[in-house]
Amino acid sequence: MLREENIEHLFTEIRSGSRRALARALSLIESSSESDRDTAFELLELCSEVPTATRRIGLTGSPGVGKSTLVESLGLLLVEQGSRVAVLAVDPSSKRTGGSILGDKVRMPNLSLHDHAFVRPSPSRLALGGAATTTRDAIILCEAAGYDTILVETVGVGQSETEVADMVDLFLLLVLPTAGDDVQGIKRGIMEVAHGLLVTKSDLDQQASRVAVATLTSALRLMIPPLDGWSPPVVPVSAVQGDGLKSVLDLIELFFADERRESIERIRRTQRTTWFSVALQHELLSVLLRDAHFKEIMKDLKDQVEVGGIPPSVAVHRLVSHITINISERL
Ligand code: GDP
Repeated sequence: MLREENIEHLFTEIRSGSRRALARALSLIESSSESDRDTAFELLELCSEVPTATRRIGLTGSPGVGKSTLVESLGLLLVEQGSRVAVLAVDPSSKRTGGSILGDKVRMPNLSLHDHAFVRPSPSRLALGGAATTTRDAIILCEAAGYDTILVETVGVGQSETEVADMVDLFLLLVLPTAGDDVQGIKRGIMEVAHGLLVTKSDLDQQASRVAVATLTSALRLMIPPLDGWSPPVVPVSAVQGDGLKSVLDLIELFFADERRESIERIRRTQRTTWFSVALQHELLSVLLRDAHFKEIMKDLKDQVEVGGIPPSVAVHRLVSHITINISERL
């Protein structure tokens, strides 16, 4: 663990814009070592005191929809406009293989070389608190390092996309032009939380892209808007040719207009309390799992659940009774 003065030093370095210091801090929050995490928490406390007015933007979509390409083009335009852009990837890492979906693919070669951009490759495995918790902390670190626009990219699988919606201000869903043929194929839950839909690769088939925009626009009309006074636009975009990128920038400007700041701050307050509950669950579980005795009881109950020996709810009840008895004995 870093000593107190070294944490202060690391913090000063981060504040002064050192990429190396920021990368080191991000590794600390991704670490599963307890002492690294203790250091990370001290650092996070310092970082969260830094006042920032930032834009947190999430982009999600299935593999191959064009996320990385769009983030690269959009990121370059944003830095040209004077923003400092950090890109974080939430990689839900395939549980089955332990592998990483985004993998080691060389991501955003031009943006990552830009002086005013910071591209963080996705962690190769899940940290103790889960990908989402780590990313929330990573956002705070990047903001303290002076990045005013944080782009959080996630592969749209499982629950990760709605988790990302809960950690950003503006949440954008990317869909292929073929979405016009099969709106049913897009999960309703995700469409309902999106603040904007981007129909990617519009250069490939402009007719299909127009159909997709029209179909998605009418589908959205039947849904409850994610925010009062905000109707999610559907924007066709070609990250490769640049068409539509200006409309995406306009969408971002509109969403973060001064008069909307208060509403964004209100949402962030709710997000912080949700985050508190989620982080608490992760942390409690990881504390319990470090206890060999508890781990054994849990494994035993899990085995019984697997073979249908006892229902999961009964097993959880037994486990929790065991914990509470243990706590009251210690008190
Ligand atoms: P991701 O998996 O969602 O990050 O998708 P990528 O950004 O890696 O893109 C997947 C493939 O689609 C790549 O071969 C890209 O070159 C291609 N692609 C991405 N955006 C566009 C676009 O606007 N037009 C065309 N024609 N191809 C694109």
